[in-house]
Amino acid sequence: MTEWFHETLYPSVRQSLRIDRIIHQSKTEFQDVLIFENEFLGRVLVLDDVVQTTEADEFYYHEMLSHVPIVGHGAVRSVLIVGGGDGGMLEEVLKHPVDKVVLVDIDGEVVDICRQHLPSVCGNAFSDPRSELVIGDGKEFVASTELRFDLIIVDSTDPIGPGEALFRRPFYQACHDILNVGGVIATQNGVPFFQAEEVTQTHRHLRSIFTHSGFFASPVPMYVGGHMAFGWASDHTNLSGIDEATIRSRLQSRSLETRYYNSGVHVASFALPTCVQDLLA
Ligand code: SAM
Repeated sequence: MTEWFHETLYPSVRQSLRIDRIIHQSKTEFQDVLIFENEFLGRVLVLDDVVQTTEADEFYYHEMLSHVPIVGHGAVRSVLIVGGGDGGMLEEVLKHPVDKVVLVDIDGEVVDICRQHLPSVCGNAFSDPRSELVIGDGKEFVASTELRFDLIIVDSTDPIGPGEALFRRPFYQACHDILNVGGVIATQNGVPFFQAEEVTQTHRHLRSIFTHSGFFASPVPMYVGGHMAFGWASDHTNLSGIDEATIRSRLQSRSLETRYYNSGVHVASFALPTCVQDLLA
């Protein structure tokens, strides 16, 4: 009999993916983990019944949440990734001339499972000498670390379960306090069509803490509902005010191989649909 995975993120709308083969299924201290194969999508990572990433579409999300802030900043050398246990974000960040990337994920088992079963998503990122893996709560890490960063990427689960604290003001304030001058934070904020509150809540906090803040947007095919919103904020870098010629010239000096991201997409992602602008008003 054909088996289907039903995502239960929203109460009245569901997406279903055919399970062609279960690769891994377990319960960690923090979440239920499922990896299965789907004929079209390849391997699919699910945490607590919510799709996190698939082999087929991971590049949309990972490229946009890494390259937009890195190229927009222009001189990123040190990066903190909060969450991101599948390693896809780490792999994209390491394409840049960075000195150090610290990845803090609360769930070491998710990291091990993804390294074993999703090598096409993380590549060799975890064994790159510039990477440092910390297993711990991102909220506690940012509140206590002595390290300072040019960029913080919040590649978290949705604000349910362990990811909830990563959408609250104390977390954003602590991130602010560990950024270098010119430093930027970039966050995943869900799909505004279904998850408007992820945008409004983060917007309220970032705006009250940082001098500059805003959102950029991109489709991520398996996050149904249209555009996904990404938050950004900084005291000294206005990410939304950089023209395409500048982005293009910054890209010319690095040999960045991408499948979704380019200079045109970079600039266009800051043009927000009216219904998203209304959420920020
Ligand atoms: N792209 C994904 C999405 O938006 O659906 C996120 C992918 S990544 C797998 C999310 C990671 O966040 C998971 O590995 C989870 O363990 C981690 N995470 C959740 N809460 C966390 C916390 N408080 N501190 C650090 N990592 C956390």
